[in-house]
Amino acid sequence: MTNNNIYFVANWKMFGDVKSVNSLNRVIKLTKSKKYKNIKIIYCPPYTLLDRLVGKTKNYNIDIGGQDCHFDMNSGAFTGSISSTQIKKLGCKFVILGHSEKRNEGDTNFIINKKIKSALNSKLNVIFCIGETKQEKKRNKTFEVLKKQIFECLKNIKIKNNLLIAYEPVWSIGTGNVLYHDDLRIVVNKLKNIVKKKYNKHIKILYGGSVNTKNISELKKVNNIDGFLIGNASRNVNKFIDIIKKSSN
Ligand code: PEP
Repeated sequence: MTNNNIYFVANWKMFGDVKSVNSLNRVIKLTKSKKYKNIKIIYCPPYTLLDRLVGKTKNYNIDIGGQDCHFDMNSGAFTGSISSTQIKKLGCKFVILGHSEKRNEGDTNFIINKKIKSALNSKLNVIFCIGETKQEKKRNKTFEVLKKQIFECLKNIKIKNNLLIAYEPVWSIGTGNVLYHDDLRIVVNKLKNIVKKKYNKHIKILYGGSVNTKNISELKKVNNIDGFLIGNASRNVNKFIDIIKKSSN
């Protein structure tokens, strides 16, 4: 990963079919423009589309990532799972780990730690998601929770430029509620300081949670953010492009 990019991660979740692949044509065109040379677009489709999207984007400045991987990087009897090695061998460069939707399905910090180790061993870059729930925020536990997620999930891991953090408040994902302005700036600053102090490393922080064409102009004013993880709005190519253009103005 280079260091001066603004990231736009498209998390398609469990949506999309072969027809969705063509929606990348306009995004590919956008990446050819000099105006957008500092943006890094990463598509994270369902596993069924990884291969096609890798093929579609291989000559362009777009990377592809998985939405999860198993903690064992080797092949094994893990029905329904995919390994970091398999994702890497397809030509993907990234994997999302620690997403709250996977935590809801049972991923603990301990498991996420093992998954991150597996992904890094497979030479994938990791988009590591953290975030507090509504109740935790109400009880003023935000930083306690975020610190715990960072320390436990990154235990015994040497952070290099191969990991970025996506701060995604759980109460914000898919709800239309967003953290703005100084409230967001403060969290992002604190997270950067926590990582710097503990790992002596400057880390990139993305924001995720209901980013859309209407709120992006306000969100982009938070100038310590290094990019965005976009769920629902990333599946509509017009909206996705609009978000990128508005962030780059
Ligand atoms: C996400 O899936 O990580 C996400 C941020 O989703 P949405 O943009 O739909 O809130």
